[in-house]
Amino acid sequence: MTQHTHLHAFAGHLASRLAPLDLFERVALAAREVAGRIVFTTSFGIEDQAVAHAIFTQRLPVEVVSLDTGRLFPETYDVWVDTERRYDVRIRAFSPERQAVEALVENQGPNGFRHSVEARQSCCFVRKVEPLARALEGASGWVTGLRADQSSARAQVAPAQFDTERALVKINPLFDWPRERVADYVHANGIPRNVLHDRGFLSIGCAPCTRAIAAGEPERAGRWWWESESKKECGLHLQGLKAPAETDTPKAPS
Ligand code: SF4
Repeated sequence: MTQHTHLHAFAGHLASRLAPLDLFERVALAAREVAGRIVFTTSFGIEDQAVAHAIFTQRLPVEVVSLDTGRLFPETYDVWVDTERRYDVRIRAFSPERQAVEALVENQGPNGFRHSVEARQSCCFVRKVEPLARALEGASGWVTGLRADQSSARAQVAPAQFDTERALVKINPLFDWPRERVADYVHANGIPRNVLHDRGFLSIGCAPCTRAIAAGEPERAGRWWWESESKKECGLHLQGLKAPAETDTPKAPS
């Protein structure tokens, strides 16, 4: 049995054990069962805040990190600070490589991501995907706040699944929670939350790429709203995303 086949089977078995449990038990079981380094990447959205609460309250051996793209809302940094204060922790930031950011801006300007899907993916690659790869280096487990009903692209989210691209087990303890349940949970436990959620921002990413949505719009309609629905992922949760094409790849200055 290859290592990948073994991990695939392990993830399937873990998924069936996680499914009947509550949130606290899910993250605790994952922390116990996944050998090696486990990383939780938070963007401080309401789902991530619920997961962070379960990890920090139980003092689980899970590294909590955030991808500081450099383009986040000021309100997101406020949640970051409130979360550190509430649980008496430090959340590690992974920032984009300085030279790559400088080359990106040189190449496409500060808001070049609006010009094409490729330009946007280049920005997401430099500011999110590459830092994520560093954050997950050597990790065996990756905890996320993904929910299956967030979008059609996320419908297949399972409690645990093998990420073939990164060769690790991805754990999604909120996979079956509807948004209302997450919101109620965060409210009931007094967990710090982003004030933008009260202003129509359901899914919160980088400031220039997120807008508030109107009642009845899909949850992720406010992300990269100028693009078609099928493109709306930044590459963090898609397998097979490669560095942007040669012509679009920001070059480090020689
Ligand atoms: Fe760049 Fe927007 Fe992607 Fe953030 S969400 S990394 S600003 S393109």
